[in-house]
Formats: sequence, C-alpha cells, structure tokens
Amino acid sequence: MRITVGVSARHVHLSIEDMELLFGSGYELTPERYLSIATQYICKERVTVEGPKGKLENIAIIGPPREHTQVEISKTDSIKLGLKPPARLSGNLEGSESATLIGPKGKVLLKAGLIVAQRHIHMTEKDAKEFGFKHKDYAMVVVKGNRSLVFDYVVVRVAPENTHTEIHLDTDEANTADLKTGDEVTLLHVNDKKLRLEQIINSFDERQLRVLEESVTTIISEEKQRISMMEDMLKSLKS
Ligand SMILES: [Zn+2]
Repeated sequence: MRITVGVSARHVHLSIEDMELLFGSGYELTPERYLSIATQYICKERVTVEGPKGKLENIAIIGPPREHTQVEISKTDSIKLGLKPPARLSGNLEGSESATLIGPKGKVLLKAGLIVAQRHIHMTEKDAKEFGFKHKDYAMVVVKGNRSLVFDYVVVRVAPENTHTEIHLDTDEANTADLKTGDEVTLLHVNDKKLRLEQIINSFDERQLRVLEESVTTIISEEKQRISMMEDMLKSLKS
C-alpha cells in the first residue's frame, strides 16, 4: 500500500502557562498556516531552545496550546544543543530531556519535554481494518531509490479523526532517505501479524531483489555444506 510522507521540522507545543512566561501574560498566539491535521496550525511567533552546548533559534510553535510543553527536535539538533532527548511518541514526556526556552518576554526552564519524535503513521480506521493494523502496532515502511531503506518500528496510530493515512518522519529521517513532504512510500501490510513474503518481495526494486537472491543462495549453499558435514559425522559415529 502506498502512503504519503509528512516531514516534521523541529517545533514546540506550548502550555498556556509557559506561553505567557515567554510572550507576556494575556498574550495570544497568531495562527499563520494550518497543517495536514487540520486542527493544528503553525504560529507566526518563534522561540529559541537552549542547551549546554548551543541553541536553536527561530523554532516554530504549533497551536493550539497543550497541557504540557513539548519540544520536538531531530537527533542532529540534539547534538548541537548538547542534550540527549529520547525517541518518544507525542505526549509521552515522563523522564524526557530538559531544556531552556527563550521568548521575547522571558525564559522557561523545562524539567522535561524535549524529545525526538518517534516515527509514526497516522492511519484511518478504514485502512487499519483493510490492512490488518491495530492502534500501537509497529509497521515497516520501504523507501525506493538510491537512498532506499526500510523504516522499521514505525508506530501505527489509528484514530477516528484521521482523514488519510500518512507517515510522519523528522528531518534527519527524511534526509537520510531523500524524502520530502508529499512523496509516497510503501507500507508493508500485515496478515495476522505475519508479514507476507509476497508483499515484501513486491516492495523491493530489481537491484534489491538480486541482493536478496544472492544472500539466500549463499545461505542455502552454506547450510548444505553444514548438513553434509553432519551426515559425514553421523556415518563415522555409526561405523
Ligand atoms: Zn508535535
């Protein structure tokens, strides 16, 4: 099944409390552009994230406000900051990394909230039913081309409000596979939790299939050698 790609650049979600500390009490953020999940929007305002080694300026804020402030950056960003955020799904912030946010009116020291977003698929209920996925399943996604790779451990998130099925990757992941927002990739579907070999084979290109074929041929010949050694051993045991 082909699904579209959405690339998430670094961004923050702010609680009302933290937003007022950064922008002043009573301040309201200005929506600038609505996102593919239509209840969410990018705001005109920007913030800075600071760590022990450096800072990232001009970080987008995604509204509406949330209960807890959450900062989503890439692994590359985290190296620049000198921080070690865990890969987490949105909202799972317990024990995540700390960071400092800087706005025009003040600073906020977050005890936790800095994460690298765990790659995930927003899936419609219809697609989930058709392709055999449940909420929180792990999926595999195959990318073709000369930076081809397989994304494993892609968390499936099924929700009634999902209007289309889309994989969300961060900028590191997208760049590694030479993907941009709107591109299409192949989601391997599952049948009773077992990936169908046929599906996997169909998702690879000819060069990849040749590599697989060579590997399987090598494995078979090695196994044959091992069996004949064991047969010889058996013969000598019997004699
Ligand atoms: Zn987010």
